[in-house]
Amino acid sequence: MRYLILSDIHANATALDAALEAAKGRWEKALCLGDVVGYGPDPNEVVDRIRELGAVTIRGNHDKAGSGLANADDFNPVARAVALWTREKLRPENREYLEKLPVGPMTVNGFSLVHGAFRDEDEYVFAPAQALDSLLDAPSPITFFGHTHLQGGFTLRDNKVGVLHFKPASDGSFTALPVEPETTYLFNPGSIGQPRDGDARAAFAISDLENGSVEFWRVPYDIESVQKRMSAAGLPEALIHRLSFGR
Ligand code: ZN
Repeated sequence: MRYLILSDIHANATALDAALEAAKGRWEKALCLGDVVGYGPDPNEVVDRIRELGAVTIRGNHDKAGSGLANADDFNPVARAVALWTREKLRPENREYLEKLPVGPMTVNGFSLVHGAFRDEDEYVFAPAQALDSLLDAPSPITFFGHTHLQGGFTLRDNKVGVLHFKPASDGSFTALPVEPETTYLFNPGSIGQPRDGDARAAFAISDLENGSVEFWRVPYDIESVQKRMSAAGLPEALIHRLSFGR
């Protein structure tokens, strides 16, 4: 089975649509690692799309804050302002959908999904030392995680943690990484709606584990149109600006 793996869409419908267009016909089941909303201008549109796709979705910290399931007290002021704006904007059925999203980790067809880390859905896995805990905790050789908005991931082989290195495709397509035996993987598909790895393009992955590979995609989208909607909605300037740089 080929899975489309989305994460950290953050209410950016233009980026999501560009990703879905690029991936058309290349996957059978969609999965989402959380943060469907927060930061971006299109919370209802993005929740509608995820529901239409029938994507198996676990919750992220912004889904908890945006739906009102959690208060946004531990967010920075910018993120908190948008969480409250999102809560106002969401139609009741979409707010309820986010509120009821299952908590990760979740196992799908022999691999695992988490938003942050296995021990704490809100923990960031940025560095090898942080990855080690999740690599040891993982109940399956392959895990997909999000939350950091950095495409890539980590490996554990012969008791050593490695960082995945690859060159993202420059032509709006993908780089395929082979999955090797005797190795535990933490794969991050990257963020659809607010990448932070210095590449402003939407990021996602398609896993084809039966054929031993994971595709890491980068797809350009009309960033300016999203920024215009954010300005019109009065969303914070810093969030509008960062989309141009993928930082
Ligand atoms: Zn996020």
